[in-house]
Amino acid sequence: MSDLLLRGRTLSFVRWPESASDSAAYRFEEDGGLLVRDGTILAAGAYAGVARQAGAGVAIVDHRPHLLVPGFIDAHVHVPQMQIIASHGAELLDWLNTYTFPEETKFFNPQHGRRIARLFLDEMVRQGTTTVAAYCSVHKESAEAFFAEAAERNMLVIAGKVMMDRNAPEGLRDTPQSGYDDTKALISTWHGKGRALYAITPRFAITSSPEQMQMAGTLLAEHPDCHMQTHLSENHAEIAFTQELYPWSRDYTDVYEHYGLLGKGSLFGHCIHLSDREADALSASGSIAVFCPTSNLFLGSGLFDYQRYRTRAQPLRIATATDVGGGTNYSMLRTMDEGYKVIALNGEKLNPLASFWQLTAGNAEALSIGDRVGRLEAGREADVIVLNSSATHAMRLRMETVETLAEELFLLQTLGDDRAVVETYIAGRPAKSALPA
Ligand SMILES: [Zn+2]
Repeated sequence: MSDLLLRGRTLSFVRWPESASDSAAYRFEEDGGLLVRDGTILAAGAYAGVARQAGAGVAIVDHRPHLLVPGFIDAHVHVPQMQIIASHGAELLDWLNTYTFPEETKFFNPQHGRRIARLFLDEMVRQGTTTVAAYCSVHKESAEAFFAEAAERNMLVIAGKVMMDRNAPEGLRDTPQSGYDDTKALISTWHGKGRALYAITPRFAITSSPEQMQMAGTLLAEHPDCHMQTHLSENHAEIAFTQELYPWSRDYTDVYEHYGLLGKGSLFGHCIHLSDREADALSASGSIAVFCPTSNLFLGSGLFDYQRYRTRAQPLRIATATDVGGGTNYSMLRTMDEGYKVIALNGEKLNPLASFWQLTAGNAEALSIGDRVGRLEAGREADVIVLNSSATHAMRLRMETVETLAEELFLLQTLGDDRAVVETYIAGRPAKSALPA
C-alpha cells in the first residue's frame, strides 16, 4: 500500500483538559498533515513539514476545512441487540427478560450472527467509531462471526462471548465447563490475531453461578493480557438480587473481587450506585467504570457521577460507551451530549475539550490501548475520522457565530451525529466511503 497524506485541521489530546482554555492539553494544527504508511501514522504536525517529509508522488487527500481527530472508541456495546434498540418501557431486569434474552437466542444461527456483526460494524464506521469493546451472545459462533467481520475490516476490537449459566432461558445458557472451554478456544483463535483482543465476558453476577464466576476468574488468571468485561451496580433491583444470590458478599463489587475479576483490564459497565468502599476497591485495582449515559437515562437506572468519581481521593478510571441496545444511539457524539446532561444533573459542566479527550485518548487509555490508538502521533495506528462541523443546516447556521475550538467541539457534540462524520479511516484505509449505500 502506498503512502497516504491526509490534510485538514488536526486535533489530538495529550492529557485531560482542565478547562476550555487549557491549550496545553492538545495539539491543534489549523493546516495539519498526517502521513500514513502500512496502517500506521508516520508523521503528524503542520502540513508543510509533513508534506516535505512525504516527498513527491504521495497520494494526498485534502479534507480542509474539516477536523481530523482520532477515531472514537465505544467501551461497552452489545452486538446482538441491534434489533431491540428502541424497545419500550422496561427497567433493567424486565428489559433483559422481555427483549434481550429472546433476541439473543437467535444467535445460535451463525448466518444471523454474521449478518448482524456485519451491519453492526458498518454502523460503527458510519458513526466514526473505530474501536469497540463488544459483548457477543452466549454462542461461541456469535463471537466467531464478530471477530471474522472485524478482521475483514482490520478493526481494533475487544470482544467476547458472554458467559451465562443461570437466570436465563433455555438456549441461552452455557455451563461452567462449556463457557470455559469456548472462551479458551476463542482466545487461542482470536486474541492478538491481527488487531483483535479478547475480553473474558461473564454477563453479570446474576446470570453466572458461583462455579462459573470461579471459572471466569481462572480464565483471567490464565490470560492476564485479556480484558474482562461485565456489568456492575446499574439498577437497585439488580443490586438487591445479587445480594440474595451471593449472601456472603459485602456488596456487589465484592462478588467480582472475590472471584479475582478486578484489575487494570477489567471494564465494569454502569457503576452508578457504588458505595465508597466499592469505588475504593475499583480504584485500588485500576478497574474501569464505564459510563453509559443514554442507556442509564433510557432504562431509568440513575445518574453516573462522573466528576465525583474522577476527582475523589481515590479516583476511578473512566470510559464512556453507548451500551447499545439499552443505549439509544450508536453515535459517540450523541452519547457525550447525553453524558453532558447527566453530569449537569449532578451539578457539574463537562468542558467540551474534556469530552473529546474522553472519546479519543481517554477511552484509549481506559482500555489500555492508549499506546496504539487515540492520538494522532507518529507510531500510533492510523484510525482517524474526519468531522464536518457544518454538516447540517442548523449546524452551519450556529457555526457562523462560533469563535473558538472549544465552541466548535461543543457544537459538534450537541448537534452532531453520523452526518458530521465525513470519512472514517481504519488503519489508514477509507472505510466510510467504501460502505454500501
Ligand atoms: Zn451492557
